[in-house]
Amino acid sequence: MEDVNKYFGDLHVLQNVNMAVRTGEVVVVIGASGSGKSTLIRCLNGLEPFQRGRIEVDGNELKPNERNGQALTRIRRQVGMVFQQFNLFPHRTVIENLTLAPTKVKGLSEAEADRKGRQLLERVEIADQAEKYPTQLSGGQQQRVAIARALAMDPRLMLFDEPTSALDPEMIGEVLDVMRELAKEGMTMIVVTHEMGFAREVADRVIYIDHGRIVEEGPPERIFDQPEHDRTKDFLSRIL
Ligand code: ADP
Ligand code: MG
Repeated sequence: MEDVNKYFGDLHVLQNVNMAVRTGEVVVVIGASGSGKSTLIRCLNGLEPFQRGRIEVDGNELKPNERNGQALTRIRRQVGMVFQQFNLFPHRTVIENLTLAPTKVKGLSEAEADRKGRQLLERVEIADQAEKYPTQLSGGQQQRVAIARALAMDPRLMLFDEPTSALDPEMIGEVLDVMRELAKEGMTMIVVTHEMGFAREVADRVIYIDHGRIVEEGPPERIFDQPEHDRTKDFLSRIL
């Protein structure tokens, strides 16, 4: 992201945001509610247009105010997204949730998509739930399905927006485990989360954002143990 600026009406939600994420890097984004974390990652996969600056994802460039076009289509295909509220298709079974996009968008045959989908369900340790509907699963299971669904498109980048915030405490660990594995396998990830233990252990870099600006960034040890800015200190003292 280069000098990205985004407004909602008069509200300047992202202010000159510059961010470069390398292949294989895991970046954790932290910041108070309303600071622009969701907007930042929604801009990255073209879910939200921005007004100034430029965004490039894996060689695909997004220009200001772009709402469709080839670059956007390619970015949406190559970037997986996991939301706080799972957003699974409620009237589709678990396995159908995984095969829908690969058959429709990537042109995989039903058999190929099914085989791949079941492999992914195994990877998130939920293969025995393939024929169930999302509401028949626990929150932690639904979120693992959502991760598998994103992976079914072979993304080059995975975006997570508070993936454990809607979960009961006892289910947070199973979702973080899957994300930890993904990071170990070398997936490029940008993760908005308040799970500081996860950030400390898995993140290569932590970015603190306040009122739409990147205030501070660095390795987790530096940000958590020796924050430079008062606002970062303030924020950390409230959540740690
Ligand atoms: P965070 O994810 O850090 O909580 P958001 O990116 O969701 O923050 O929101 C940043 C700011 O933009 C907030 O002030 C929020 O109210 C505002 N905002 C978010 N989405 C919209 C929208 N669709 N329309 C208008 N304002 C919005
Ligand atoms: Mg948010």
